[in-house]
Amino acid sequence: MKSFSKKLVEWYNPTSRNLPWKQTNDAYKIWLSEIILQQTRVEQGTPYYLAFIKKYPTVKKLANAPLDDVLKLWEGLGYYSRARNLHVAAQQILEIHQGKFPETYADIVALKGIGNYTAAAIASFAYNLPHAVVDGNVFRVLSRVFGIETPIDSTDGKKQFAQLAQQLLDKKKPSIHNQAIMHFGALVCKPQNPLCEQCPFSSECKALELNKINILPVKAKKLIKSERHFHYFVLFDSKNIYIKQRTENDIWKGLFEFPVEEVVGQWSMFDSKFLQKINYRQSSFDHCLSYKQTLSHQYINGHFYEIRLSKLPKLEKSYLKIEKKNILNFAFPKIIRTYLEDRLNFLT
Ligand code: SF4
Repeated sequence: MKSFSKKLVEWYNPTSRNLPWKQTNDAYKIWLSEIILQQTRVEQGTPYYLAFIKKYPTVKKLANAPLDDVLKLWEGLGYYSRARNLHVAAQQILEIHQGKFPETYADIVALKGIGNYTAAAIASFAYNLPHAVVDGNVFRVLSRVFGIETPIDSTDGKKQFAQLAQQLLDKKKPSIHNQAIMHFGALVCKPQNPLCEQCPFSSECKALELNKINILPVKAKKLIKSERHFHYFVLFDSKNIYIKQRTENDIWKGLFEFPVEEVVGQWSMFDSKFLQKINYRQSSFDHCLSYKQTLSHQYINGHFYEIRLSKLPKLEKSYLKIEKKNILNFAFPKIIRTYLEDRLNFLT
């Protein structure tokens, strides 16, 4: 085969997507864009990227910002551990590298929340270092072109694909090569209905020759999603409302929510410990609403029970009594945000 990289780079037109983070070799901006775009579409991620660059134009500004402000700016993007890790890594850069973004792959990959893919992307895009990126697009392109059936989520598969990607990399143009292969996977060798008739590899692609496009790449494990039910108590009076920050090592750590009970199986208001705690004696609620949110590994069912009281009871310190008019200053998971969008007029 004519050099894989040569064909790829010939196919690629670097000006094809005029995205703001493509116009820079500033490692900080590239890092921000890569973290924001993980599991996020470009159209959704771009306004967040621009907002972050505006509010935190330097690593130092990000490192010195309160975490709650960072989470608030991230609100709606999901996968909040990315925002928490971003904040920790900015502080690492400040403390270990005196605020200057590290310039070697080893130093970059040592930062919190940066894996092999992101480190290779930053090292090659910012510093033109010869490290091949391996993401979902690269797995798909290589497995199809070379007919590799090793599962991409197995230890052997990860190793095999990483070695092959590194072998194929154009060591003189790693930045262009890496951008090209990812674009190629996103635009031509797509998961469904790849554009084989326009593909520069069609004469040698094993998947096309052997009619295996729909089975490559192979995944060993089937994802089983768990189903969770969160029962939220929206407790408010004429002025205030109770919220609580999530502190456990679970989804949405650091975000806010209403007082909550998570129950496996049937939930009954008569068994609710929270309602007993606040001495709630009614047999129904003022209003109830349910919403569903799908995460990568879980389905979240949020049930919202509105309880309007003439005066709010006193609760432990972990519950925050805030003025209702300020509620949108806090960062909430999407499911609560959706509920608030529907009910804010009523609550306030
Ligand atoms: S021929 Fe089709 S399946 Fe093969 S690499 Fe090209 S687009 Fe992908």
